[in-house]
Amino acid sequence: MGLLPVEQAFAMLWEHTPGPDREELSWHQALGRVLLEPAFSLLDDPAFDRSSMDGFSLQAAGTHEGSRLPVTATILAGQCPSRPLESGGAVKVMTGAPIPAGSDAVVPVEDCRESDGFVELLRPVRPGENVRYRGENLRAGEAVFLSGRRLDALDVATGIALGIERAAVAGRPSATVLATGSELVEPGSPPGPGQIPNSNGPMLAALWQAWGGRLDGEASVPDGEQELEAAIQKGLESDHLVLSGGVSVGERDLVPELLERAGVRRIFHKVAMKPGKPIYFGRRGDTVVLGLPGNPVSSFVGALLFLQASLRKRMALPPPAWRTRRLVERHESGGGRTRFEPALLVDEGGVKLLPHKGSADLPAWRGAEALVELPSGRAAFEAGSPLRVLLFRHAGREAGA
Ligand code: AMP
Ligand code: MG
Repeated sequence: MGLLPVEQAFAMLWEHTPGPDREELSWHQALGRVLLEPAFSLLDDPAFDRSSMDGFSLQAAGTHEGSRLPVTATILAGQCPSRPLESGGAVKVMTGAPIPAGSDAVVPVEDCRESDGFVELLRPVRPGENVRYRGENLRAGEAVFLSGRRLDALDVATGIALGIERAAVAGRPSATVLATGSELVEPGSPPGPGQIPNSNGPMLAALWQAWGGRLDGEASVPDGEQELEAAIQKGLESDHLVLSGGVSVGERDLVPELLERAGVRRIFHKVAMKPGKPIYFGRRGDTVVLGLPGNPVSSFVGALLFLQASLRKRMALPPPAWRTRRLVERHESGGGRTRFEPALLVDEGGVKLLPHKGSADLPAWRGAEALVELPSGRAAFEAGSPLRVLLFRHAGREAGA
């Protein structure tokens, strides 16, 4: 039986995952969303000539150090000047307040002395000082963000400041997560003899949501045809149906057959990778179905490689970005399929593989912050070999800490 090379499986997954749904949101609710259309400023920024300091607004020409000008009005932030500046006069202004027509400079309170309704300049004042002119940052009608941008908190704030009201964005796809296995007990219940806690369901649900997806439901289902069939039918109503367990060749590995019965078209099953070989990918209508092997590390690696990418495509994001790092110590891998190993980043572009006991050894990944790809067919990797690395935890810890 020919196994599908990882790159080919990835290409098929990317090709067969539907593109984003378009949604229109209020700009201020679009955090984390990806723009499908550019966004244009509705305002000049600033929207009016304003003071950048608490001080006195005046016309610089004709003033000098020691000038005394009558203070004819006070303008607070949020107020508007009721008339133009009187020639030879000054208006007290607060930071952000509009300056009156006819004034062209603001002298900060620190550089003048106010008494008896007059302000005395303690230094010469230049035209334009401490004035922010209308439109000097950006003009109404300019494109502020291009399509493809994922809006972060700063982007949301910038758009609000520029009066942008609507955002045309990619939708957040929904998922149902089903953990299959009659041995599973729900988190919080102590496992009986032969039982194990369902850790994959919560893991996959958590990853999905952390990556930006919406969760319709997460459940565990025993390996019984009827229960599984019903759960699959329901799960196919989501944009993604994610299953763990039951996809390999054991007695009770019913998932591929039941998916087929439910009308899911198989796109691939079994990939030349370790861990994660029995991975299943299919589609029914616009619903994407990913079946991950039950071993926790296989489920995790499969989710990182495949689930993450198909979610990203639906959210109008590019595939996850791999980096290249150099192996710091020689490593023997045993050859065969492409391997994915837990690793730690080491400063200066290095990566260190962590010891582990295979696809059931979840605890070995506690200290890992990256997944390293060891290409197929090579039994040993020398120190210094460049390897592809996918980060899944924020780096920032010292190597070895
Ligand atoms: P399977 O892919 O169903 O043959 O399961 C492979 C191994 O993963 C078995 O040892 C299962 O007990 C274990 N396993 C399956 N599902 C889960 C789960 N949801 N959480 C933790 N381990 C699981
Ligand atoms: Mg099973």
